[in-house]
Amino acid sequence: MERVNASPCPYFKKCGGCQLQRLSYEEQLRRKMGRCISLLGRFGHVEPILGMDEPTRYRNKVTWAFGLDGKRRPVCGIYQPESHAIVSVEDCLIEDAAADAVLRDIRDMLQDFKIKVFDERSGFGWLRHVLVRRGFATGELLVVLVAASPIFPLQKPFVKKLVERHPEIRSVVLNVNDRYGPVVLGTREKVLCGPGYIEDVLCGNRFRISPRSFYQINPVQTEKLYGKAVEFAALTGTETVLDAYCGIGTIGITAAGQARQVIGVELNRDAVKDAIANARLNGLKNCWFTAGDAGEYMEQMARDKLRPEVVFLDPPRSGSDERFLRSLLKCAPERVVYVSCDPETLARDLGVLTEGGYAVRRIQPVDMFPYTEHVETVVLMTRKDT
Ligand code: SAH
Repeated sequence: MERVNASPCPYFKKCGGCQLQRLSYEEQLRRKMGRCISLLGRFGHVEPILGMDEPTRYRNKVTWAFGLDGKRRPVCGIYQPESHAIVSVEDCLIEDAAADAVLRDIRDMLQDFKIKVFDERSGFGWLRHVLVRRGFATGELLVVLVAASPIFPLQKPFVKKLVERHPEIRSVVLNVNDRYGPVVLGTREKVLCGPGYIEDVLCGNRFRISPRSFYQINPVQTEKLYGKAVEFAALTGTETVLDAYCGIGTIGITAAGQARQVIGVELNRDAVKDAIANARLNGLKNCWFTAGDAGEYMEQMARDKLRPEVVFLDPPRSGSDERFLRSLLKCAPERVVYVSCDPETLARDLGVLTEGGYAVRRIQPVDMFPYTEHVETVVLMTRKDT
């Protein structure tokens, strides 16, 4: 195995977030290709993975945990894998530098603004996490303070000072999470300044992104990923397109100019609101978005005998489900473009679709997460009889 001599990151041993840190970038890509070939090779030729020219500082979303260390001193940084111990960091090589600078400043402001970090053991304290999102194209920053309660006495001077230091901050949101468990964001939110979201530009379209909506974390590679997805869809302007698991509508909106109409379905209501706003923001009148379970929606489409010509699906890591895949087979679209962040669940779902009459025509891995073992893949399928 080709190794670079030393890890470029001083936190490597403790943090564990970048499993491939000690490998050269070329070796990382070779390894991801090997994984894709072993899992997906039985479906067809795997095209060479699309890597990054500059594989660092790619994360546009950064979350640091705030808590106490073993000696009960305040600490902030990144969770160790499978543990609640926080590794204190100053800076992370895969995170956006401006986001890290905001996080360091918040850490340094805690004492002056009488902010206590949350202690998971006793349940005392206030600040649990801070999430910073940056629109790479617009430079806008969204800061989300995740706290155990909505009471923040020095809120106004805190926000004023933070925005003075970082004028790129467009919005600061207080998110209240009073539950135990691994989920970072709670369900209650209060906008402390700005509109409560930021905007970014991707593939020539403008997107609004709210704190709880999903947005791809590596925008440089996302343009390559969506470029391939839309190329595979081979749209001619006459098609009805379903964008399943659509998030804030990014794939459907990228394809909308080349389709008759786009329908998006997504479980997260905040993301659906963003998607509707995004269609409007880009002057698109042929996009429809609906909140709900993708499987249930697909089943309804099959019952109503609606037949989209093209279906994009981009499910979470767990992959799609029986209900969705069975109904997809009933609707029998001409082309299915599957965007996946886990080749194992992708292989499982491709098994179902190939047995149901589809043939895999293209398999394109894209490296969205350098230094980590995650790999993204976009696959084109068409019906075997076409
Ligand atoms: N296509 C989008 C989002 C992909 S992430 C993009 O590229 O940005 C997967 C999305 O699936 C998330 O937004 C998540 O909220 C949504 N999701 C998860 N389970 C779902 C389900 N059962 N039905 C519909 N959407 C679901």
